[in-house]
Amino acid sequence: MFSETLPERLNAVRFVDAGDRLAGALEPAHYKRFAEIATLMPGGTVELQGARDAFGPRVITGSLRCEAELTCQRCLQPVVVPLVGTLRWGLVRDENAAAQLDREYDPVVLDDGDVWVRQVIEDELLLLVPIMPMHDMCDIGWTSDPEPDVAPERESPFGVLRALKTEQGPKGE
Ligand SMILES: [Zn+2]
Repeated sequence: MFSETLPERLNAVRFVDAGDRLAGALEPAHYKRFAEIATLMPGGTVELQGARDAFGPRVITGSLRCEAELTCQRCLQPVVVPLVGTLRWGLVRDENAAAQLDREYDPVVLDDGDVWVRQVIEDELLLLVPIMPMHDMCDIGWTSDPEPDVAPERESPFGVLRALKTEQGPKGE
């Protein structure tokens, strides 16, 4: 079902008017801006659904789920975090129309009836990256070793002998 890679460009007007659906895979190599801050893992998917009510804007709704590898801010080792997003795109002709769009939609400006899908998805991905990624439980080596490495100090037997000799001391007259 997700064998198809998400297209770079989608004829969004036709997509919405036909009430089409689309499911596509996220190919990590396509998201260069995202790659600058995190590693997108293979296997991410996007689902899109076109819809329009009689008086409203053309709308594409859908979902986005993938995993990204980031650096844990506690142990500084790699950590894989899930990125899951809900998509609610209101398609608009220009920035003016975007300003008037119902606030429940994120405005996406059409380019001659098309949407640059990967570009918009990449914006969504960037917004989903956590500011402080962390492991639930950091795997720090020394926490798993319950025995302290330092043996308790013992009195040296030579120390005892030395003490005895001093006690006898030199004989007086
Ligand atoms: Zn960690």
